[in-house]
Amino acid sequence: MTRAEFMKICGVFGIGCPFQFSLMSHGSVARKPFKGKVVVIGAGAGGLSAGYFLRQQGVDFEILEASLNYGGRMRISTEFTDFPIPLGAEWLETNPGIFKEIVNDASVKVAVKTVKDAPDRKFVNSSWYNFFEEYIVPHISHKISFDTIVKSIDYSGDQIVVNTQNGRHLADKVVLSVPLKILQDRDISFTPSLPKDKLKAINGSRVWEGFKAFFEFSNKFYDEQYVFNVNSKHDGEKIYYDAAYGQDTDKNILGLFVVGTPAQDFISRSGDELKEYILTELDGIYENQATPNYIKHLTQNWNQEPFIKGGYMTDHADWKVVRTLGRSVDDKLYFAGGAYTDGEEWVSVHTAARSAKKTVEEITKN
Ligand SMILES: Cc1cc2nc3c(=O)[nH]c(=O)nc-3n(C[C@H](O)[C@H](O)[C@H](O)COP(=O)(O)OP(=O)(O)OC[C@H]3O[C@@H](n4cnc5c(N)ncnc54)[C@H](O)[C@@H]3O)c2cc1C
Repeated sequence: MTRAEFMKICGVFGIGCPFQFSLMSHGSVARKPFKGKVVVIGAGAGGLSAGYFLRQQGVDFEILEASLNYGGRMRISTEFTDFPIPLGAEWLETNPGIFKEIVNDASVKVAVKTVKDAPDRKFVNSSWYNFFEEYIVPHISHKISFDTIVKSIDYSGDQIVVNTQNGRHLADKVVLSVPLKILQDRDISFTPSLPKDKLKAINGSRVWEGFKAFFEFSNKFYDEQYVFNVNSKHDGEKIYYDAAYGQDTDKNILGLFVVGTPAQDFISRSGDELKEYILTELDGIYENQATPNYIKHLTQNWNQEPFIKGGYMTDHADWKVVRTLGRSVDDKLYFAGGAYTDGEEWVSVHTAARSAKKTVEEITKN
């Protein structure tokens, strides 16, 4: 049974799925105070959330981030047009109550404007990145070390040794919040080796390729959405859409979101060849209106990002495999992020944050 089928059954019978958990409010997570040091690896949605929740629990932590920026796959462009362009995560795939749930502090007034964009919601002149920038990062930014690439982790002794290109960091517990592809490619080595079932889950999971593009046109000749029929739903998704929908703008911005097998046509091209490939496809759909109306464009190939290396884990992964991906190892290595969700929902920003919350609960109760 796939995760999609499993979640459907939970919904139909109105039963709680075994991996659901409730986010307890600030101050109620820790059952026993945990006094050790936690090293969080990765400053995407999962790592930032883990740091934020650890801070709320008064736990000593630091975040090691390989790139020069936080946010990971929530990255935006603020220069392309007059509203933030989400180069990765764009839609809110749950209800807006999630913002308060993540902030987890009743004294904070959370105001994030979204608009219905069925079946999801869109941020209005904002983004997931902006939410983290405003509500989460200010509390933990002094704990993030950038340009710090974790190469290996030795968890054989009482203290865990995390080796980076700049030196070593000691920890009592480590939260891994790196993309699944980083583990598949063994960019981080482990001593001792990860357990067999964990390795099997890591290596057996399909990470979809990921690509997005944004085109500005002088005329809005395109539909709200143009969804392609991908051969098998397990292969991925491809859609052109009105990226300016719901935004306070008079610009005509068309988006392309493509993951999985159909993304290969785009990640294998670059420069003018890529631009012409997309314009030709649009000219074919919209009776040669794309090329004459073209103003400028922006592309994001997630497969060529050195510390991301792909889109995200297929929506159709087996929930038992996903659960294994998220499971901790020896009360020392913990996992948080889009791929480590215990199978409660598909890969998204909000599930990455929820997995971090669950991980912090597990750490602080031990
Ligand atoms: C094209 C695309 C569209 C998407 N659309 C949506 C959407 O509309 N809505 C939604 O909710 N979600 C969407 N997602 C999914 C969402 O972006 C991810 O689930 C989420 O951002 C993942 O967060 P993360 O923290 O797990 O990983 P990441 O954001 O990838 O963060 C991992 C971090 O680890 C760092 N890192 C990697 N290796 C190392 C190392 N060796 N040492 C130190 N640091 C390291 C990376 O630099 C990165 O900053 C989309 C993703 C893609 C690619």
